[in-house]
Amino acid sequence: MPTLPTDGTVLPITRWGEPVMHQLCKPVTTFDDQLKKLVADMVATMNAAEGVGLAANQVGVDLQLFVFDCPDADGVRHQGVVCNPTVEVVEGKDRKLDEGDEGCLSLPGAFTKCARPDWARVTGVDENGEPVTFEGNGLLARCLQHETDHTQGTVFGDRLSRKYRKRLFAEAEELAPHYPADWPVSPIYDPENELTDAE
Ligand SMILES: [Zn+2]
Repeated sequence: MPTLPTDGTVLPITRWGEPVMHQLCKPVTTFDDQLKKLVADMVATMNAAEGVGLAANQVGVDLQLFVFDCPDADGVRHQGVVCNPTVEVVEGKDRKLDEGDEGCLSLPGAFTKCARPDWARVTGVDENGEPVTFEGNGLLARCLQHETDHTQGTVFGDRLSRKYRKRLFAEAEELAPHYPADWPVSPIYDPENELTDAE
C-alpha cells in the first residue's frame, strides 16, 4: 500500500457552485515538486475534514487528481493518489447496486442515499507518473467513483433524482452556519458545545 505524505498544509475546501467544481478538469502532465506539494496539502485537508477522499478541484485546482484513504466492505484500509483516473464498474446483469448514504466535503454535513455499483476499479498514474490501479467494494467502491466523478466536473447531486437532490440541499443549507468559509482551516462551529444545558 502506498503511504500518503504527512507534511501538507490544510487548505479551505471549495464548495459546490464554484465553476471549478462543475467542469472537466485538465489532465496532469507535469509530475514535479509542485504536484507533490499539492498532493501533500490535499491529504492534510482530507484528514482535517475527516474525509475518505478529496479531489484537486475541491481545493480549487483545475487538475484531474484525487487522494483517498478509505476502508472497503471488510474494513480493510486503502489509500492512494490517482492522476488522470478512469473508472470501471460492472455493467449488465452482474451489476449490483449499493444504496448506501453518500456525502461530499464540498457540500459539508449533508448525506443522502445514492445508488452506485458496489464494485469499482480506478486506473491512472500516481504523483510520480507511475501507473496505479485500485479496486474494491463497499465504501471504497463508492469513494473511487465519487472522486473520479469530481475530476470530470460531476458532483453526486448530479446523480440524484430531483426529490433527493432537493432534500440534500435543504439539509446542507441547515448545516451551512456550522461550516466557516475556510473550513477545515477553521474548525466546525458547534453551538451545542457552548450550550451545555441544551438537550
Ligand atoms: Zn465530493
